[in-house]
Amino acid sequence: MPHDPRSALLAAATTPQTWDILVIGGGASGLGTAVEAATRGHRTLLLEGHDYAKGTSSRSTKLVHGGVRYLAQGNVSLVREALRERGLLRKNAPHLVHDLGFLVPAYDWWAGPFYGIGLKLYDLLAGKLNLGSSKYLDKTEALARTSTLKPDGLRGGILYFDGQFDDARLAITLLRTFEDHGGVALNYAPVVGLIQEEGKVVGARFRDAETGHEHEVRARAVVNATGVWVDDIRRMEKPDAEPMLSPSQGVHVVVDRHFLPGDNAIMIPRTDDGRVLFAVPWHGSVVIGTTDTPVPQASFEPRPLEEEIAFILSTAGRYLSPAPTKSDVRSVYVGLRPLVKSEQTDGAGSTASLSRDHIIRISDGGLITLTGGKWTTYRRMGEDTINRAEPLAGLAQRLTVTPGLHLHGWSEEPRDDHWRVYGSDAAQVQSLPGAGTPLHPDLPYTEAELRWGVRFEGARTVEDLLARRTRALLLNARASSETAPRAAAILAEELGRDAAWAELQTQLYQDLARGYQLPS
Ligand SMILES: Cc1cc2nc3c(=O)[nH]c(=O)nc-3n(C[C@H](O)[C@H](O)[C@H](O)COP(=O)(O)OP(=O)(O)OC[C@H]3O[C@@H](n4cnc5c(N)ncnc54)[C@H](O)[C@@H]3O)c2cc1C
Repeated sequence: MPHDPRSALLAAATTPQTWDILVIGGGASGLGTAVEAATRGHRTLLLEGHDYAKGTSSRSTKLVHGGVRYLAQGNVSLVREALRERGLLRKNAPHLVHDLGFLVPAYDWWAGPFYGIGLKLYDLLAGKLNLGSSKYLDKTEALARTSTLKPDGLRGGILYFDGQFDDARLAITLLRTFEDHGGVALNYAPVVGLIQEEGKVVGARFRDAETGHEHEVRARAVVNATGVWVDDIRRMEKPDAEPMLSPSQGVHVVVDRHFLPGDNAIMIPRTDDGRVLFAVPWHGSVVIGTTDTPVPQASFEPRPLEEEIAFILSTAGRYLSPAPTKSDVRSVYVGLRPLVKSEQTDGAGSTASLSRDHIIRISDGGLITLTGGKWTTYRRMGEDTINRAEPLAGLAQRLTVTPGLHLHGWSEEPRDDHWRVYGSDAAQVQSLPGAGTPLHPDLPYTEAELRWGVRFEGARTVEDLLARRTRALLLNARASSETAPRAAAILAEELGRDAAWAELQTQLYQDLARGYQLPS
């Protein structure tokens, strides 16, 4: 029996009332803030303009980390905070975060002691939430862990530990956690204007992107958590607001696992442009990135530059044998960093000098803008935001419970297969039709996961299913495109739509997926 869950959600979102908190944006920042508010007992609505995690939050390097790179920059307090959050998230969502060993290969005599000392400090800063002690490996041990490292000139390496996760699945898990605590969330609901009374922001107008109808919602506090788009919302309040952000893009390529067999990632601590480069095993493939290229404006589907792909492949090829080439790339994806301009910057500075920490700014009209930070620190960002929102909105000031909160699907002993991301829901997902029917020979997913995504995770399009409920688009863009007609048929069947609708969905998805493939 087809069942479209959207009408009930829309009704819940638009029932006349004044919400305690309205959150605009359903990425890491918005979902983290919404969970923080709902778990403190505040009546909370979240509006997402596209799909949850459509923006940067599905396009990360997939690391839950303190940021070794920020340690090198001397930003100890930022690293300490992120390491604490890493440890908390590891406990709060063991089905989505796991420990991963990172090998820093040493080809120079000084590299071993130099990086070894830095990584000992990293261990120390993590305190009792450390995931494992870093250690020096000799050449034989390093090659035993990563047999594709180029052996010529290799002296050994440092092994250290960080966390790894599935970013879009964590976003969906936060959505479910939010709903479990009474929150209401709606995707495909872009905010198109703010309601202001007597100089104060008291709500927002949003458009239902599926019908074109506009609705008004009112709230005691409005949080703008729209990532690289925060300035658009700020300008809805004050058309001449100075931009806060200077976006920069980061590209990743995904290649076959044989380029990095074994259980650990590698981290190249210094590339030609002074960044770090990661090659990380993920869902049976390898993610390699990233870059840092300033972009003039934010788009929902940023495109990689030819030179960014060349840079990633040539840098990886200096350390790995065989070296991955363009024809080995199964998918390429691009994320935009919401880098916050410092108060002093006039907008002309390079992005490397901008803050990586999060910023909460409250306008004269009371609009709370949260941006910057990183996935790893989403919980802390939400906590800080609600701490500011409560007095502003005249709400009871309550203590946070999120440091120990089990996220939706939490299970003591997560499984060790691709169903792991569902945690305690895995058996229910497997009970749906199609659990034994693979979507595509080159993808690890089954039809049941698509049905689950539509029924319980707010998926509305083939893109939602293949890019974020499953990660097919990122793992293998061509294979995901081939499976789009089947995904569209399942979606149409679940929602009660006709064959023409499914055909349009397929075409839209296949157009999108072309942007994730390199021309051969
Ligand atoms: C290349 C790269 C790699 C990264 N790797 C890591 C990593 O490995 N680990 C880590 O911890 N962090 C990482 N980060 C940082 C992390 O991914 C980001 O800090 C985080 O995802 C930002 O989340 P956000 O919610 O602020 O923004 P977004 O995820 O962009 O969310 C903003 C949301 O707002 C919505 N929106 C926009 N306009 C409107 C509107 N008018 N109405 C309603 N909704 C709207 C958008 O659709 C979007 O979903 C990385 C970042 C980049 C760029």
